[in-house]
Amino acid sequence: MTAEIISVGTELLLGNILNTNAQFLSQELAQLGITVQRQSTVGDNHERLADWVREAKDRCDLLVFTGGLGPTDDDLTKETVAACYGDTLVFDPEEWEKIVSFFTRMGRQTTPNNRKQAMVPVHGRKIPNAHGTAPGAWFEQDGRCAVLMPGVPAEMKAMWAEQVRPWLLARQNCTLHSLTLRVLGGESEIEYRVRHLLSSPNPTAAIYCKTGESEIRITARAASDQDGEAMCRAYAKKFYDILGDAVYDEDVPGLAHTVIHTLEAKGMTLATAESCTGGLIAQQLTAVPGASHVFGYGFVTYWEQAKARLLGVDPAVIERYNVVSGPVAAQMALGARQAAGADLAVSVTGLAGPGGGDQVRPVGTVYIAGATEDGVWVEKFHYVRSGRENVRARAAHAALELALRLMQGKAPAGCCRLTAEDCTRPEALEALDQALIL
Ligand code: ATP
Ligand code: MG
Repeated sequence: MTAEIISVGTELLLGNILNTNAQFLSQELAQLGITVQRQSTVGDNHERLADWVREAKDRCDLLVFTGGLGPTDDDLTKETVAACYGDTLVFDPEEWEKIVSFFTRMGRQTTPNNRKQAMVPVHGRKIPNAHGTAPGAWFEQDGRCAVLMPGVPAEMKAMWAEQVRPWLLARQNCTLHSLTLRVLGGESEIEYRVRHLLSSPNPTAAIYCKTGESEIRITARAASDQDGEAMCRAYAKKFYDILGDAVYDEDVPGLAHTVIHTLEAKGMTLATAESCTGGLIAQQLTAVPGASHVFGYGFVTYWEQAKARLLGVDPAVIERYNVVSGPVAAQMALGARQAAGADLAVSVTGLAGPGGGDQVRPVGTVYIAGATEDGVWVEKFHYVRSGRENVRARAAHAALELALRLMQGKAPAGCCRLTAEDCTRPEALEALDQALIL
């Protein structure tokens, strides 16, 4: 099946808004195995739109429209496309009823031009809009179809997911099955390693960049759910073969979920000691339902005296090595583990900027430590050219990553390990500082 996407709206042509609908629909249509041959944008003008539709409808199976379904005079997609497909519109009392009650619920009154939105195809079908007032429409002529959806992205996406996508799947006699792999590491490196797997037509695989990790979404089109699942599983194996345990989980919203689930599975508890992240790690952990079973203490120790009082960090160590240093991160993690009586604790101390920073410790320098019963692991990061929020988000992600890896018994390369006793031994702290500064 071939398709074209036609976005209607003068504001798109003027560059006032970005055409995110076309991007969304292109990705979705590709997943359905429908080949998108063109994307175009037409202003709110009847003649130009009619000319374009007449030309486009004969060269592909499906035209997908968004925009121009509203009540105003410049909303003319429905009338124009109806005419091109040899259809007409008729007033639909049921739709009108819905529009009136929608307005009543909003405490507003309809105006005469709202009746325009209750006009539906005579031969084609209306597409109910559960999230707004304007119904969509479906026209068909000689086996070629047009689907019209609203311009407001949230309404369009809902209509797509709830109505249009299932219709198109049924039309093609198939189902879709998806599997999402969550992968630690930067998008460009991961993309490079798996690039040959990203152009398959079925299953499709797409990579999306998130803070500190990437998401790979595999989608298979198949005759049954079972077949789709098997196809996704087989294709996922190709990614596992290349990425190994950089793939940390499947079908979870993010790393905090995996950390919580792993703690639960291992019967362990976690505590956090945060400086520059200001509670971000605790926030992400507590966003996961069931976090209270495994997470009880999150220290936000922003001041030096808070690090000393709550976590037992030695002021002399702060004085000697700086508050943003490996020795301080190590003492924070150890102190949090002891104060909370937790099995595992992670700590973060860093310079989020934009102020502060020097040659030795530029803005973006972050030390992260994790303490378990087997010792303390410390890592140093430098997030270059990142803003304050980005440094904080990446530091929080790195701390969760360290927590996960320590639970799996896979301390990351580049980590320094100390014993609990080392954390108060001047020579050991000196050696740690030197190792991490270099
Ligand atoms: P309404 O009932 O609000 O008039 P409509 O279906 O007529 O809805 P438009 O008037 O074309 O849709 O657009 C409504 C709003 O939706 C626009 O102001 C814009 O913010 C957004 N929008 C429209 N088209 C797109 C698009 N292609 N990509 C992203 N946003 C869009
Ligand atoms: Mg409009």
